Amino acid sequence: MKETKKSIRACPAPQPMEGQAWDPAHLRKIQEHPCYSAEAAHVFGRIHLPVAPNCNIQCKYCIRKFDCVNESRPGVTSRVISPQEALERLSECISKFPYIKVVGIAGPGEPLDNEETFETFRLVQENFPYLHNCMSTNGLRLPERLDELISAGVRNVTVTLNALKQEIGERIYSCIHYHGKTYRGLEGAAILIQNQLQGIEAAARSGVVVKVNAVLIPGINDHHMVDIAKKIKELGAYTLNIMPLIPQYLMADIPSPTPQERKRIQDECGRIIPQMCHCRQCRADAVGKLGEQCTIGGK
Ligand code: SF4
Ligand code: SF4
Repeated sequence: MKETKKSIRACPAPQPMEGQAWDPAHLRKIQEHPCYSAEAAHVFGRIHLPVAPNCNIQCKYCIRKFDCVNESRPGVTSRVISPQEALERLSECISKFPYIKVVGIAGPGEPLDNEETFETFRLVQENFPYLHNCMSTNGLRLPERLDELISAGVRNVTVTLNALKQEIGERIYSCIHYHGKTYRGLEGAAILIQNQLQGIEAAARSGVVVKVNAVLIPGINDHHMVDIAKKIKELGAYTLNIMPLIPQYLMADIPSPTPQERKRIQDECGRIIPQMCHCRQCRADAVGKLGEQCTIGGK
């Protein structure tokens, strides 16, 4: 087992919006989730189960050799495991790290494009009903698969949303694969964005706690983050996680935003919707607390 310790920079804890009341079950989904609450990150942990290798879009910053960089950092690749292996890994981790409260699927590809995601969540729900099922998605198939996700016990969803306008989306996504067809350029971006927005709204309305990840890409969507913050608040999302671009693949020549630039935009967006500032850009098989990350099985 390898272990590293990193400090956690915290933004103020998110609060209910005016006129909104959170019931105890809703509060538990936030208060026991290390990514939704900076306080919880010191106490509770999460495990990512890498059961989902396929992806249905191509982001221009993703080289596809590594875990999905909409949620994870590149440089390491998770070994894909079966749902049954995932259950065994979870049992082992829970006995070693009883503070784990969240079971997440974040890749290494797009979870909603892999049936193993649903099978794994069903197994977790049957065997560990007290854990929170959590998933990250690019959102392309979120509207059509939301009911299945909820039936499989998923109540925390992260959607990566980098653009509201197809002209910006076209600069970020090369293509999407949707219902047996490949769409490129403006057309592909328009379908993706429409489904992301629909999915966020439908999920929030169904009682799912929605976090939005947005990859901050200087010169492409940095001026657009405030619009994203306003839109997702209107749709009922709970928090926004602005992640710095990791320059690679077709965006290898675009420099990462500086920490100062990112903070300035977080501060601006924080006046609109609560910000997650303590994201560690974990790998798709991460285990443990965010600032004290452990991996098991020699990986
Ligand atoms: Fe890569 Fe994730 Fe984008 Fe798919 S959704 S291309 S895995 S970053
Ligand atoms: Fe949480 Fe960020 Fe890690 Fe995802 S990548 S589990 S949001 S800290």
